[in-house]
Amino acid sequence: MSKEKYNKCSGEIQGDWRSYPCTKNAKYFEDDKWWCGIHAPSKVKERQEKRDAKERAEVAREKELENIHKRETAKRILELDSIVSDCLEEEAIRAIMEVL
Ligand SMILES: [Zn+2]
Repeated sequence: MSKEKYNKCSGEIQGDWRSYPCTKNAKYFEDDKWWCGIHAPSKVKERQEKRDAKERAEVAREKELENIHKRETAKRILELDSIVSDCLEEEAIRAIMEVL
C-alpha cells in the first residue's frame, strides 16, 4: 500500500460518555505519532503553560490587591491614631466620622 497522503491525528476528543478519535488531518509529527494543531503534545503543553502563566498572574494580582488593602488599612489606622491622640474626645469622634 502506498504511503497515506494525509495522516489522521492520534488525539482523542472527550465526549460526554466516551472519547472519540480526532478526525482532523495531522500536521505535526511528535512522539512517533501524527497530531493536529490541537492535540500535538507540544501544542497541548504550550496551552497548559499559557493557562498556568495566567493563573500565576491572577494569584499575583490578588496578592497585590490584598497588600494594597493592608497598606491602606494600616495607613488609615495610623491616621485615626494620630487624630485620637491630637484631639479632645469629642473632636476625635467627629474627626473619625469624617475619615470613615
Ligand atoms: Zn487532533
